Amino acid sequence: MSEHKDFLRSIVEEDLAAGKYEEVVTRFPPEPNGFPHIGHAKSICINFGIAKDYGGHCNLRMDDTNPTTEDTKYVEALKDAVEWLGFKWEDGVRYTSDYFPKLYDYAVELIKMGKAYVDSLSEEEIREYRGTVTEAGRRSVYAERSVEENLALFEKMKNGECKEGEHVLRAKIDMSAANMKLRDPLLYRIRHAHHYRAGDVWHVYPMYDFAHCLSDSIEGITHSICTLEFENNRAIYDWVLDTLGLTKQRPYQHEFARLGINYTVMSKRLLLELVKSGKVSGWDDPRLPTIAGYRRRGYTPESIISFCDSIGVAKANSTVDVAQLEFAIRDDLNTKVPRVMCVLDPLKVTIENYDGNEVLDASYYPEDVPKEGSRAIPFSKELYIEREDFSLNPPKDYNRLTPDQPVRLRHAYIITCKEVIQDADGTVVEIKAVYHPDSKSGSDTSSIKVKSAIQWVDAASAKKVEVRLYDRLFKDEAPQSLDDVNPDSLQIIKTALIEPAVILDRPDERFQFERQGYFYADPVDYTDENPVFNKIVGLKDSWSKKKKADNLEPVPKPQTKVVQIEGEVVPMSQREQALFDRYTTELKLNHEVANTLARDEKLSSFYEAALGECDSPVGLANIVANEVARELKDTEADERKFSPAQTAKLVKMIEDETISTKIAKQVFEEMALSGKDPAHIVQEQGLTQISDPALIVPIIDEVMAKNPDNVEKFRAGNTKLFGFFVGQVLKATDGKANPQVVNALIEEKLK
Ligand code: ATP
Ligand code: MG
Repeated sequence: MSEHKDFLRSIVEEDLAAGKYEEVVTRFPPEPNGFPHIGHAKSICINFGIAKDYGGHCNLRMDDTNPTTEDTKYVEALKDAVEWLGFKWEDGVRYTSDYFPKLYDYAVELIKMGKAYVDSLSEEEIREYRGTVTEAGRRSVYAERSVEENLALFEKMKNGECKEGEHVLRAKIDMSAANMKLRDPLLYRIRHAHHYRAGDVWHVYPMYDFAHCLSDSIEGITHSICTLEFENNRAIYDWVLDTLGLTKQRPYQHEFARLGINYTVMSKRLLLELVKSGKVSGWDDPRLPTIAGYRRRGYTPESIISFCDSIGVAKANSTVDVAQLEFAIRDDLNTKVPRVMCVLDPLKVTIENYDGNEVLDASYYPEDVPKEGSRAIPFSKELYIEREDFSLNPPKDYNRLTPDQPVRLRHAYIITCKEVIQDADGTVVEIKAVYHPDSKSGSDTSSIKVKSAIQWVDAASAKKVEVRLYDRLFKDEAPQSLDDVNPDSLQIIKTALIEPAVILDRPDERFQFERQGYFYADPVDYTDENPVFNKIVGLKDSWSKKKKADNLEPVPKPQTKVVQIEGEVVPMSQREQALFDRYTTELKLNHEVANTLARDEKLSSFYEAALGECDSPVGLANIVANEVARELKDTEADERKFSPAQTAKLVKMIEDETISTKIAKQVFEEMALSGKDPAHIVQEQGLTQISDPALIVPIIDEVMAKNPDNVEKFRAGNTKLFGFFVGQVLKATDGKANPQVVNALIEEKLK
């Protein structure tokens, strides 16, 4: 489980404790109209991750209600992505289209209840009638149709007897609802199109708002997790299930912020355009943010999961720096993959005083990596080094080979330059050098000092390979269209040379090419005749400050993790950083909360003021970062009814167990509304926490007496029911019973 619990997991835990569900059931519901991207990976990690953490299960459901854009190739890509990330769905893949008959029946039921009607206004009129945020809408005259007429028309629509756009089915809710979504939302529309799965049977297709909640209900989903843009649709979700009476163990919708990453696009429309335009080679082009793209590029599933973990789950949209994803893959590969030598731009070196044919033994891993293994590297008179590792006119601090400065050949000997051969244009074409026999790596007894070690390959045994270097696909930090594509995002090098040990007998191999970065044998184009390697990522973040070019053997980032601030790119100001540091070190707040407070002037000053009155910084911070933050979002300081001192008082009442955390939320709301003193509210409403076992035990007895079956099941081993009992007792006391005491007593009783 992730380091700190996110708000979705808190909800799940509360529901389990309250006995709302016996098992957590989630779903990942993509529409098969494109290849999944890293945003979907976040959703996959959340949905499958939560099911796994709480012993439940997660369904993979194709939300395929739109016949014109969907295709089985996307279904396959979605299945591949989930499997590759290491998750398993329960039973077979589900398809909303399999529920079309049931959904149709539910629609008929709504019509019979007088809760749905066939509207025959045009699309434009429907929009016009809907009204605006400040003006109520008008209901269509067709809303007056009789049940019989509606049933007959809806059936005709289904049978293909009506034109597209001629009619729609709408829910009869409220044309003046403040939430515009509730103004008689569309439930069905006519489409005469072939569905990739359902064929040509259907001429009406359900809208998302109707199909989604019902599919969730049909599958027994408990937590329907979606992205923030559906917040207002939640009211329809609830309306449909409540109106149809599907309320037993019903699912509830919860929203989280969708993932955005800079220098890339996540919209399926733009991704499709990129693929169609030929600006990329296909859905699995290694520059795309699709799972297939990352996979082909060489990212590991572990790195994607660790990235999703590191960005956390939040309620506020933000953009994550792509550097954070690159950090995740570097961090994963650093200790996993062998290090070998490859020269991308070869420059010939002839060692004049060497005539042998030696084979050196070189470890694949540096000493600080707990892995073993080595390979043989041939060494002879003719070698190649990287062109940029030699300089005729070295800048200051140049640590590599020059006419006057020797250098070490990694795993081998020190060489000194004797002669530089140039062509007519002055381009260096060869270096004649001498080697120092007593300088062999590992048994160096020479007294020659060098400043760095460089990679090289033996001319006779090196193998020619193709190397593909990728840069960001977009040059713009927040790309809007294909015009922002970076024309230099792919560089192909056909003349790189690699040491002979790197002969692959199985695909799926990753390497660190020393001083260059991490590389992956391209799973599609790699052949023995033309070995192709994709650059996964460099050894350091080349987009942040360009480091001095001569940083030899760039030590991969040490294991210390950088502070990963939830989904933020904007650097903190000095003041914010100082607050953040104090909050995390001195006050021991977790990074998420500290980040929220430090970056918001209103919140941090409220917090600071309350801290003076209360010495539980963590408890206080939690309330300020959640309840207070929500209240202050749209309020000016002078409209605020409650004070930091009152909030501190509320926290103290939690700390001394006068009230439970749950009740505290209720008290807070009252306090925010009326400005009343929290102690006063608690007293007035009789909310004091009940911790006395003498008062709780009789309630437990009663709950057990009322539910003998569950007692038996629990004793027979169904321990999941523990939450049920806790929930029942809490309910009987209106949430006032001290949950810790309840837990302990129930455990005692049920033994
Ligand atoms: P469309 O634009 O076609 O609606 P979508 O990006 O919403 O595309 P879906 O296939 O409907 O794609 O998404 C499947 C699931 O993945 C949904 O639950 C959705 O909330 C989630 N999801 C999609 N994009 C992101 C994202 N960028 N971050 C997090 N979750 C996402
Ligand atoms: Mg969608």
